[in-house]
Amino acid sequence: MSLSKDYQRVRSHRPYTIVTLAELLEVNPATIRRWIKLHGLDMAITNTRRPIILNGAKIKDWMKARQVAKRQPCAPNEMYCVRCKSPRQIMVETFQIIQRNASKLSVKGECEVCGLTLQRFGSVANRAALEAVFCPKRPDNPAA
Ligand SMILES: [Zn+2]
Repeated sequence: MSLSKDYQRVRSHRPYTIVTLAELLEVNPATIRRWIKLHGLDMAITNTRRPIILNGAKIKDWMKARQVAKRQPCAPNEMYCVRCKSPRQIMVETFQIIQRNASKLSVKGECEVCGLTLQRFGSVANRAALEAVFCPKRPDNPAA
């Protein structure tokens, strides 16, 4: 399941109980209660009666905002490492460009910290710029 797209499952015009929301998102109901209590998920339509009824639109907005807050944008010379859970530079000696078709290519290299192979897609038109950014010290690179 893609956690980043979970909010797309929530319907704006539908009310949810903690249990129905937990089932929809495939999480434990305790997770929803923790979001409400600790992470500011303010979405209750009624919190004086049981069960608590939650507002779909508010849930969606909260989940989107939370996703934006978690974003870690990469600098032009970085790729996101899923093992480090952080933007990382690649080791220059592992840098390679693989042409996918007439217009697409991918840049590959190993994470400078953990060694995981990182990949980023780009266009053939940007090849020289990608080489200059990811591998500035390569001897055959005219931009060096
Ligand atoms: Zn890494």
